[in-house]
Amino acid sequence: MDLMEYQGKQVFARYGIEISAGDVARTVDEAVAVAERVGYPVVVKAQVHVGGRGKAGGVKLAGDAEETRFHAGNILGLDIKGHVVSVLWVEHASDIAEEYYASFTLDRSAKQHLGMLSAQGGVEIESVAATDPDAIARVWVDPTVGLTVEQARAWVEAARLNPAATDGAVAVLLTLYRCYVDGDCDLAEINPLILTPDGQVKALDAKVSLDDSAAFRHPEWDAFAGTADLDERERLALEKHLQYVGLDGTVGIIANGAGLAMSTVDVVSQVGGSPANFLDIGGGANAAVMAAALEVIESDDKVRAIFINIFGGITRGEEVANGIVQALGRFTPRSPIVIRLDGTNAEEGRRILEPHLSDRLVSRPTMLEAARQAVAMAGTEG
Ligand code: GDP
Ligand code: MN
Repeated sequence: MDLMEYQGKQVFARYGIEISAGDVARTVDEAVAVAERVGYPVVVKAQVHVGGRGKAGGVKLAGDAEETRFHAGNILGLDIKGHVVSVLWVEHASDIAEEYYASFTLDRSAKQHLGMLSAQGGVEIESVAATDPDAIARVWVDPTVGLTVEQARAWVEAARLNPAATDGAVAVLLTLYRCYVDGDCDLAEINPLILTPDGQVKALDAKVSLDDSAAFRHPEWDAFAGTADLDERERLALEKHLQYVGLDGTVGIIANGAGLAMSTVDVVSQVGGSPANFLDIGGGANAAVMAAALEVIESDDKVRAIFINIFGGITRGEEVANGIVQALGRFTPRSPIVIRLDGTNAEEGRRILEPHLSDRLVSRPTMLEAARQAVAMAGTEG
């Protein structure tokens, strides 16, 4: 789940990263009230799930109530890359001596956490990486050891920040690492991390993405759920506890296990189709789960055919078949369905499906044949 800046800052504050005093505002009057409370000058900032707000006119400095009123009025309702602003964050403005970039994310191929730090902050890190890759100092952190003080100091020195920022930056990075790990973030990014003229190092922006799989141990995340930037399908899937990723194609996919779901997306693409989603029903292939999965896929009007790809392991074929039959007894999907059932008790499963097969419910013995069939059906459904 991607957080907006003010939510990311709540996460930062929880772990002790220095941020400016501020608060959320949903109206011009609220913005002025916050400004009066935190003291002028303030920054009025659009809260949306995209970056580059500054360039789009979504971040403005205000020296008094009148300016706050003016900027808040302009930013509320502003369209930033398709996201209309309905929430503002107003904070006491900082004096900036220098702007840096800092982040932690997971480097899957290295099986380590990757920290990135640059003296060129405030701009998009992708453009720094493209124009001046040496300006980004990277550190790989063994998750079983963690980021050590020595490592953090060497990293800061490699990034060639202003020496006045060294101690402050080391402290922030150690805290950011703890926030990233203990806070179960997929990404914890500060851009800009600033050095103030009086030598303070603090976070002016926050980009945090949370690992949804860790939600069970973070009751405090409930507060973020209502504002998550989900499309209708993703919202429904979340409600039904399904692992779902929406894509743009026409073939809806249901598979058991993330590996099989990914392969199914690949095979559908290979035979010339375009997947509408990635949906892993995991081990639970009963009627309720199957009905929920079909319902989520059906809520996408781009879907023209549904491919159910099940390889039974612990999940047994007859259970899946019963699940599908019962789910179809509850409602009739708009799109034709192709089923490939293999693995544990697949034959029994296919026997159960047999009497229900039609030109709208087709069974194919292999993944490749089933994918071809689904893509063909998606093509003719129009
Ligand atoms: P983004 O454009 O969406 O990344 O929004 P940021 O929160 O990063 O703000 C964009 C830019 O606005 C920063 O890089 C700063 O240059 C400027 N800015 C943000 N907050 C302050 C502040 O408190 N004081 C000053 N002087 N500039 C600020
Ligand atoms: Mn920023």
